[in-house]
Amino acid sequence: MAAGDEEGSAPEPEQEPAAEEPRSFKDLGVTDVLCEACDQLGWKVPTKIQVEAIPVALQGRDVIGLAETGSGKTGAFALPILQALLETPQRLFALVLTPTRELAFQISEQFEALGSSIGVQSTVIVGGIDTMSQSLALAKKPHVIIATPGRLVDHLENTKGFNLRALKFLVMDEADRILNMDFETEVDKILKVIPRDRKTFLFSATMTKKVQKLQRAALKNPVKCAVSSKYQTVEKLQQYYIFIPSKFKDSYLVYILNELAGNSFMIFCSTCNNTQRTALLLRNLGFTAIPLHGQMSQNKRLGSLNKFKAKARSILLATDVASRGLDIPHVDVVINFDIPTHSKDYIHRVGRTARAGRSGKSITFVTQYDVELFQRIEHLIGKKLPAFPMQEEEVMMLTERVAEAQRIARMELREQGEKKRSRNDDDDTEEAIGVRNKVAGGKKKKRKAF
Ligand code: AMP
Repeated sequence: MAAGDEEGSAPEPEQEPAAEEPRSFKDLGVTDVLCEACDQLGWKVPTKIQVEAIPVALQGRDVIGLAETGSGKTGAFALPILQALLETPQRLFALVLTPTRELAFQISEQFEALGSSIGVQSTVIVGGIDTMSQSLALAKKPHVIIATPGRLVDHLENTKGFNLRALKFLVMDEADRILNMDFETEVDKILKVIPRDRKTFLFSATMTKKVQKLQRAALKNPVKCAVSSKYQTVEKLQQYYIFIPSKFKDSYLVYILNELAGNSFMIFCSTCNNTQRTALLLRNLGFTAIPLHGQMSQNKRLGSLNKFKAKARSILLATDVASRGLDIPHVDVVINFDIPTHSKDYIHRVGRTARAGRSGKSITFVTQYDVELFQRIEHLIGKKLPAFPMQEEEVMMLTERVAEAQRIARMELREQGEKKRSRNDDDDTEEAIGVRNKVAGGKKKKRKAF
């Protein structure tokens, strides 16, 4: 990283002493009006990362936060920023860089929720959304900008009158992922056009070499706040695997969804195509499943996410696009339908459940082709997982109905592909699926969910 040499000789960060018992936000030094905002959000006691990071951030120190997804890290950086903003009100005060659009919207929601009573304005600047309306929003000079690096650089280079020369706070959230997504050049460009005299918070699930380099480039004498040892999964997460023949994956999936009916599920697939296919399959069997993947437009992705968040759908099928950072507090069960190829993605996927002190389950499908990948995961998390208990005979009883649903799903997928090619649009959401189901005779719609 070019800017890496700026403060290349910075000393290693101090390690914050282990946090004691959770205290109140007030004890951490959070001002009354923000304590009230936390209370209104139902945040009774600060989480570990908040206990560690907030006091040092309030003292004006730079912070490196190593925290799991779901740890409450957004609050850990948002509260000190809002408090500083209260003390010295200023427009274009803070910039939060984050790897994905979904995550940007979530962070913005938390800023709005915490800051509404003090009149904080924030704007989300991400790709896939009209640049003109973003330029207008930037012209109004919000207090906080939450952005993905690529689109922000676009505005810094092309939007007249917009600059970040007065910025006081920079947050790099999920820094490991920002760098893995090849946003290094963009981050460099941003670092060059914001004041050196600022506070910087860097949050990351993992401390990779690239993150260390960024830390040296961007932070001054930071305090390190780590709430988990490397690659640990949260304590309240019950992790299981099932070892099954590849050809029966769909039947086992349906069996598990039936066994754990009443829960909300997030199912991870390796490709957009398999996500879409599996969503169609499950819908053909009467489940309320909804897809979320990179071949859907931004609006449709947000639409899917919102339906799931609002609990109008109980099953969200996603590619790794959605595996990190999404704030979906009520996910009860994560299913790794396709095993992740990169073991670290396992941690991020299962991090969708058992968030903020709740309990949750994860079940990883291991076929004859996945044994080595699974062993790597067990090695990474440092434990052997138990098998999820199943009645094989019951699974086998499902195969016929599942085969029929697979056949219809394949047909629908083909039709969707043809329609897409002819209309050149991306009408691949559940609305489109619904219409097609009706066209296909509506028979399967009457079928009972099982
Ligand atoms: P984050 O890790 O920032 O994505 O936060 C995960 C979830 O924890 C979000 O839904 C937050 O609203 C929630 N949360 C953050 N801080 C607290 C807290 N102190 N108590 C309870 N929930 C919290």
